[in-house]
Amino acid sequence: MSGSIGVERYAERIGRTQLIAAERGVDALLIGVGADLRWLIGYAAMPLERLTMLVVPPEGRARLVVPRLELAAARATVAVEAALVEVETWEETEDPVSLVIRAGGSVSGGSARSLLVSDRLAAAFLLPIQARTLHAVYGLASTVLSELRSVKDEEEIELLRRAAHAADRTVAAIAAGRLVGRSESDVAREVRDRLVDEGHELASFSIVASGTHSASPHHHPTDRVIAPGEPIVLDIGGTVEGYGSDITRTIWVTGGDAAKGPDDTYRGLFATLEDAQAQATRAARPGTSAEAVDAVARRIIGQGGYGEAFIHRTGHGIGLEGHEDPYLVTGNAAPLSERQAFSVEPGIYLEGRYGARIEDIVVCRATGPDVLNRAPRSLAIVSGT
Ligand code: ZN
Ligand code: ZN
Ligand code: ZN
Repeated sequence: MSGSIGVERYAERIGRTQLIAAERGVDALLIGVGADLRWLIGYAAMPLERLTMLVVPPEGRARLVVPRLELAAARATVAVEAALVEVETWEETEDPVSLVIRAGGSVSGGSARSLLVSDRLAAAFLLPIQARTLHAVYGLASTVLSELRSVKDEEEIELLRRAAHAADRTVAAIAAGRLVGRSESDVAREVRDRLVDEGHELASFSIVASGTHSASPHHHPTDRVIAPGEPIVLDIGGTVEGYGSDITRTIWVTGGDAAKGPDDTYRGLFATLEDAQAQATRAARPGTSAEAVDAVARRIIGQGGYGEAFIHRTGHGIGLEGHEDPYLVTGNAAPLSERQAFSVEPGIYLEGRYGARIEDIVVCRATGPDVLNRAPRSLAIVSGT
């Protein structure tokens, strides 16, 4: 399957990974199925109980160990087609761990070896390998890969943009449609269908939090029926060639009754939130620390009197994973870099009453933040009938 990312990008990614591995004295990276594998060679392997593993040495060709029945799928990826990696298959009755050990050269050698494993590698794969490499020192592959993966190339940014626009259109359609009298789960199902209709290959999540539920940031949609005179926090996303969208907009439904609009408290709260989201976005520049962006949102929400009601970090990186580096949170003093992509999503939650959140995906640029989402951020007051 050829996608928007060309073979030269994969060659570059493998090369940069090997360079860092060599500099740090790493003997091999052992990469299981997941985002690291997809980023390195473009292989969106099916997560199975059977072992698939890319072994990346500091120099020379990387080797991909796959079950025999996955060979056709593996061969269909551009990096394999272009022979950037060598493929080794194992039959159902074979022991894949020996292949990994061999692929890693003297991975099992007597001296202490330094091996980095992908962060999400299952224990079922890691433990048998560890048992055969008793002298190895293990670390996480993210210590090398996260700084590389967090800085997006232009093709990745275009995929994030396509995903963001598909999510924007979904939000607009939901806000313009009937909401009153429907359950949250019914609306959530429509969101998932529309995310796919608008161009996502997959709808990853669909939070529809109405009324008092809007005060819970990760509310799971229920049978609660949406009524006039309440807010709905819509936080939705899907993937385009593996790259995620993630947008939150807040809608207020009146049922067509002007008296059922937001009260003054809610209007004030929302104005504070809009200001915090806009200013935090503007603060996201290369060289500014991740925590400084969080601090901007937190200061404004605190000044508005809702400091205690902003109960989560301001944002997270996004790419092949929905949540990845960089995290915009107190304690992350790392400076933002050009072409990092992340959410800016402050929220205010008054338990038992209501809440609101605004979320955009932003790409850090020297020329200023490139906000991928275009859907209006202001409170959408709709009849919903
Ligand atoms: Zn979230
Ligand atoms: Zn979200
Ligand atoms: Zn998010």
